Amino acid sequence: MCGVFAISSLDINDAGERVVDGLKKLEYRGYDSWGVATSSEMIKEVGKISASNATFIPDTKAIGHSRWATHGGVTQENSHPHRYKKVTLVHNGIFENYLSEKNRLLEKGETFLSETDSEVIAHLIQEQLDLSHDTKSAIQNVAKAITGRFSIVVMIEGLDEIFVARRGSPLIIGRGKDEYVNTTFIASDIPAFLEYTNIVNYIDDEEMAIIKNSDVNFYNLCSGEKIEKRNIEVSWKEEVADKGKYNHFMIKEIFDQKQSLTSAVNHTDEEIAEFISALQSGNGVYMVACGTAHKASIAAEYYFSQIAGRKINVVPASEMPAFERFINKETVLFAVSQSGETADILEILDLGKKRGAKILSITNVESSSIARISDNHLPIRAGKEKAVASTKATTSQMALLLLLAYADDNRLNEGRLLLQDLASNVNDLLNPRYEEYIKSVAETLNDCSNIFIIGRNSLFPMALESAIKIMEVSYIHAQGFAAGEMKHGPIALIEKGTPCIVLGCDSETISNAMELKSRGATIIGVAHVNNVLFDQWLKIPSAGTAISIASVLPIQILSYYLATLRGLDPDMPRNLAKSVTVK
Ligand code: GLU
Repeated sequence: MCGVFAISSLDINDAGERVVDGLKKLEYRGYDSWGVATSSEMIKEVGKISASNATFIPDTKAIGHSRWATHGGVTQENSHPHRYKKVTLVHNGIFENYLSEKNRLLEKGETFLSETDSEVIAHLIQEQLDLSHDTKSAIQNVAKAITGRFSIVVMIEGLDEIFVARRGSPLIIGRGKDEYVNTTFIASDIPAFLEYTNIVNYIDDEEMAIIKNSDVNFYNLCSGEKIEKRNIEVSWKEEVADKGKYNHFMIKEIFDQKQSLTSAVNHTDEEIAEFISALQSGNGVYMVACGTAHKASIAAEYYFSQIAGRKINVVPASEMPAFERFINKETVLFAVSQSGETADILEILDLGKKRGAKILSITNVESSSIARISDNHLPIRAGKEKAVASTKATTSQMALLLLLAYADDNRLNEGRLLLQDLASNVNDLLNPRYEEYIKSVAETLNDCSNIFIIGRNSLFPMALESAIKIMEVSYIHAQGFAAGEMKHGPIALIEKGTPCIVLGCDSETISNAMELKSRGATIIGVAHVNNVLFDQWLKIPSAGTAISIASVLPIQILSYYLATLRGLDPDMPRNLAKSVTVK
């Protein structure tokens, strides 16, 4: 995870301050702690960088990092950059075999200041420099010794250059222009430098680069051979993070769904047809995704089954290695990701690529690693999603997946009409009165420590998604079940007053809700019509096969208020990060 940002310039002498500013735009990638090093100084702090006004002695180069801890607690010592003798570096990723190397270096008498895997990399590079290797060969040799996914940005005392290398974790070079023509930017994501330039070079896996102000040279990380790179102009506009009239990005993004559902399905018939023909070309589709996108994918499993008669195998990307024997040139691997950088997914797609599988994806970031590795990609166009808890990106994924299911059955127009209807109903639904009502429901739940959610059919994955949403922002334990499953065990937990959210009002789900109510549960129904069983009713529009999308909206608002009523920050919940680039 983590955000990495660095500047190498001939004439900018406030590189440290600018790196702090750039890191603020990457904070969604990790916000446990942060740090910046220039040639002469290093500042490391626990907590969010957004509050920092750090200043530095004037310098033309700086490297920085916003951390999501994987190895070692959230402490100042464990924050990056890490420095050992001449080497200062920041690292994104996991150095899986760090312990054996650390033990070897400890036996040599070296001492470590942190518990991180990253600090060991600094020691290994220094060890290579001590063996009289130049920095380029030193980094190549160390990369050979490391297993795991990483990107590193390295400064060496006494050298003007910044050295970078990538295996798995994203790293992009921004080529300065106009008044920044003598400056190069290095970042794990484009927003960090978009105010300076939209001309980029993507560093691919197993590549490295040496940067000295505007001079940038690329090499193969293994062979050391020089690589030529094209300058690519990205069409991104700098999206100013603006909450507008809202207190948090999460609630703003929930209300963005008034428009985002429309742009999610705004692709041309030709784009959809091309994607569908790729989907139909294989013999077995595996949909891989993580977290909320995984729940959207399970919903898609229902859509494709019921609308198109197609079986899609949905597997959390981290579990896909157990099924890797089924990946071959007949397989279609279909990735669903908001950021397009999820490490667990990329690992499977890399394997699929090697075996000749067809790679399809939908992401919210068109220039992401997943989009670039794909044979066919469709953007979901939800617009920037800042809050860690996904809301509009989730419903945009689901809308596009639902449309694709209709297209797979040659009923694209029917799908379009259904989703147009949904978008216009959502536009009417999301209003201040509705928000206020759901807030009043959240007030009644404020003291609870467990919430159960049930749903049937495509509302079953929405029960799972609702549980994630509630847990991640409010820290209340929530668990989702298939409606018919409660009686096979979890019903033992129901006591007088246990809150149970029931998604849907079909007769079977209502029977399951009755079983809960008979044991004392308080029932919060999410449905287009009220039911005598419901103690509280969260109304949704009648949405046909898109009911799963409609049902998740009130839960998003409920989760937001469960968090804010407890005084929590729903935009940056503890222990989480938006873009999960470690396994
Ligand atoms: N593994 C490193 C650490 O725990 C880097 C984590 C990251 O990518 O933020 O410090």
